[in-house]
Amino acid sequence: DTATLKALDRAHHLHPFTDLSGYARDGGRIISRAEHIYIYDSDGNRMLDGMSGLWCCNLGYSQPAIVEAVTRQLGELPYYNNFFRCSNQPAVELAAALVKVTSERFNHVFFTNSGSEANDTNIRLVHRYFDLLGKPQKKQIISRRNAYHGSTIAAASLGGMKAMHEQAIGLSYVHHINQPHCFELGGEHSPEDFGVAVARELEEKIDELGEDKVAAFIAEPVQGAGGVIVPPESYWPEIQRICDERDILFIADEVICGFGRTGRWFGSETYGIRPDLMTFAKAVTNGYMPLGGVMVSDKLADVLLASGGEFAHGLTYSGHPASCAAGLATLAIIEETGVIERAATALAPRLQSQLAALADHPIVGQVRGLGMFAAVELVRDKATRERLAPESEAAVYCRDWANAHGLMVRQTGDAMIMAPPLVSHPEEIDELIALLTRALDATAAHYGV
Ligand code: PLP
Repeated sequence: DTATLKALDRAHHLHPFTDLSGYARDGGRIISRAEHIYIYDSDGNRMLDGMSGLWCCNLGYSQPAIVEAVTRQLGELPYYNNFFRCSNQPAVELAAALVKVTSERFNHVFFTNSGSEANDTNIRLVHRYFDLLGKPQKKQIISRRNAYHGSTIAAASLGGMKAMHEQAIGLSYVHHINQPHCFELGGEHSPEDFGVAVARELEEKIDELGEDKVAAFIAEPVQGAGGVIVPPESYWPEIQRICDERDILFIADEVICGFGRTGRWFGSETYGIRPDLMTFAKAVTNGYMPLGGVMVSDKLADVLLASGGEFAHGLTYSGHPASCAAGLATLAIIEETGVIERAATALAPRLQSQLAALADHPIVGQVRGLGMFAAVELVRDKATRERLAPESEAAVYCRDWANAHGLMVRQTGDAMIMAPPLVSHPEEIDELIALLTRALDATAAHYGV
C-alpha cells in the first residue's frame, strides 16, 4: 500500500538531486502510472506533465509501439554486447536511422546509456582525435557557466552549475565562459551586441589558454536546465566563426534540444550551426529506455577509422538491443506522425504567445522560450529587476504550489521552466498556462508582490 511504499522509500532510497535529509524526513509522492501527458500518483492525484518527464517523454506516455518493440526485442535477444566484433540488429538499424535524420556530416554513432556518459565519450573522442593528429597538447575544453552536461565527474566538470562544482572537483582541463543570458548579464547592451560580446569570451579564453592547447567548445544550442537561455540571433554565428577559425572542435549537446524540442529535429538545425560532435539521449527513446550517444562527424570519424589501434572506451550496455529497439520505434513515430512540425506550427506559437502575455504579471520579470520550451523569470520589482530574495526560494514555492495543484513544472534559480510533450493537444497547452498562472498568483500573494 501507499503508506508502506512511502515509508520504504524514505528508509532506503537515496534520490538524485534531492535534499536527502529532508526527503528522509518528509518523503515524496509515488508516481504510479501515466497516460498521454498526465501522470498519476498512488494517492490518486492527476498532474499535467509540463516537463515531459525530465525533458525526455516528448511523445508522452501512451506509445504502445515503443512498448511492443522493446517487448519483442527482449523476447528475441535481451542482451548481447557490441565489443569483440559483435553487433546486433537494433543497434545497427538505429545507427543508420540516426545518420539519416542528422546532418550529412554525421555518418557514425557511438552509443552510451545516458547523456552524461555521452559527454564523457565526447572528451575521449576529442582527445583521441588530436592525439592521432599528432597534437597531444590539445586537451583543454571550454564550456559555459550554468550549463548542465550530466552528473559523471567529467560531465559535471563540463557543466557550470555552482552547486555541482562545490561538491565535485572539476577536471583541470575544463574551463568556463559566460552563457548568453541577456536578462542576467546583458546590462545596457542590445541583445544582438550582447550576443556577439558574450560569444567573443570564447575567443578571449582561447587566447588565454593558447590556441594550440584548446581542443573543443561544448554547449547546448539552447541551455535547458540552466534556465532555457535562448541566445540572441548574433550568438551562434559568432561562436561558429571562432571555432572554424581557431581549429576548435564544436560539440553540440542536444540532449534536451534534440528530437523536436526547438521546432526542428535538432537545435543545431534551428540555429544553422555545424557541430563536429553531437550528444543525444533522453527523447531518442521517448524516455522509455536508457540510451544516449554521440553523433561523430566525418571530420573525426575519418581520422579514427584510418588509425590503427583500439579506441579504449565503451560500456557494457553500449548499443543495448532493447534500448535501441525503443529508439528505432521512437524515430519511426516521429517520422510517421510529423509530430515535430505539428508541434512547431500548431502548439509552439500557442505556448509562446500565452506565456508572453504573462510578462504583464506583477511577479514576472522576463519570459523567454523557443519551440516547445520556455522559462518565466520571477522578480520582486519588474522595473529594477530586484529578485525575490533569498535566491530560488520563491520559484521553489511556485513549483511546489504548481505540483500540488496538478501541474508538474520545475524551477531553476528564480525561473520557472516548462517543456510540455510535443503530442499535447492545444487545449492542454491552455490548461498548462492556466495552472501556471494560478501558481504565479499564489506566489505573488505569498511574497506580498
Ligand atoms: N546534457 C544535457 C544538456 C542534459 O540536460 C542532461 C540531463 O539533463 C545531460 C546531458 C545528462 O544526461 P543523463 O541524465 O542522461 O546522463
